[in-house]
Amino acid sequence: MRIAERIARLGTETAFAVSAEAAAFAAEGNKVYPFHLGDMNIITPANIIEAAVKAMKDGKTNYCPNAGIPQLRETLAADVSASRGITYNMENVAIQPGGKPTIGKFILALMNPGDEVLYPNPGYPIYESQIEFHGGSPLPYGYIEGEENFELDMDAIETQITSRTRLLVLNDLQNPTGAECSSAEFEKLAELALKHDLYVLCDEAYFDVRYEGNSSSLASLPGMAERSVILYTFSKKFAMTGWRLGAAIGPKEIIDVITKMNVNDESCSNHFIQYAALEGLTGDQRQAKQILEILKERRDTAVDILNSVEGVRCFRPNATFYLFPNVTEAMKKKGLTNYNTFRKTLLKETGVSVCTRLHFGRAMEGEKNFYIRLAYSGINTSEIKEGLGKFKAFIEG
Ligand code: PLP
Repeated sequence: MRIAERIARLGTETAFAVSAEAAAFAAEGNKVYPFHLGDMNIITPANIIEAAVKAMKDGKTNYCPNAGIPQLRETLAADVSASRGITYNMENVAIQPGGKPTIGKFILALMNPGDEVLYPNPGYPIYESQIEFHGGSPLPYGYIEGEENFELDMDAIETQITSRTRLLVLNDLQNPTGAECSSAEFEKLAELALKHDLYVLCDEAYFDVRYEGNSSSLASLPGMAERSVILYTFSKKFAMTGWRLGAAIGPKEIIDVITKMNVNDESCSNHFIQYAALEGLTGDQRQAKQILEILKERRDTAVDILNSVEGVRCFRPNATFYLFPNVTEAMKKKGLTNYNTFRKTLLKETGVSVCTRLHFGRAMEGEKNFYIRLAYSGINTSEIKEGLGKFKAFIEG
């Protein structure tokens, strides 16, 4: 078989291998506590499901415009304008089959081979995959433990910028750390983007998965909407991961290019699902609120237990459904010095299945601490209590 050379540069989400391992362990009759999944075990609100069924019955089963149905583009533009304090209209919105496609399309639209792209590491692994696949030069930046949450390693961002740096990927409300930019961090990033003429992908997948306070966007800062594309998704807020619907939102010139990619890739996003998304944005919000209440209870349960474990330190992020505890001392205590051994031993001894820092990028030079990532979107509170109770007994035993 002669596979094209570029495929050697295409990455993947290694977290799927953790899922496979956990499934194999469960198939042997073992109890598994699934903290590895970024997926949700919460069903989509009933009014959204009903709207999809109605749209199907109404014949919305054919192709629709490449950038999405006008009603959804308009409504989403208004929604995102109101929450970010930016003025978007429908020509700034291209509906996508999920949030994820915006990553590759943004990079293809704005990066030439050899251009440098700043992206988070640890971070969502698809950034690095897409940068390398399309011939870019990846510049990873990390996060530092602050007082209350992780903070951007701003020095790593600033010192790596050269005349070849074209793009910055920012995932505020971050997977896997739960990090959230302060207004000072936003201002510094905007200053750098303007000074070095960087275009920015604002991956805001978790903008609405928030338990306290208000989310804000780098795109809202002066001069930034003109050079930013927002990755929007219906996946998380409305528990619609499997429906596959999201959007790229940004300057018309870029959105036109992305729409041309839609023509080439998928023609249009699923037609009837766009009516369901419209119901999500404009209909009864009670069930969407309940999703947040469920997630908040899970977060608090998990954080409280984790922080009671000797050698574990965990922040309580205001948004996302991820935790990224520092387990350096806990691993030392168990005599484990390797991520993979720790993860596999934990699964075997307790059934607790987690991802580690290495599922979110290669460890960077000088990294001394060890972290695991727990997602609480796919596990109920009672199971969190039981699983993390076993985790505590294992570490302290
Ligand atoms: N961006 C981040 C940071 C994510 O964590 C995810 C999903 O886990 C996505 C984008 C894409 O999600 P979707 O394609 O379901 O919208």
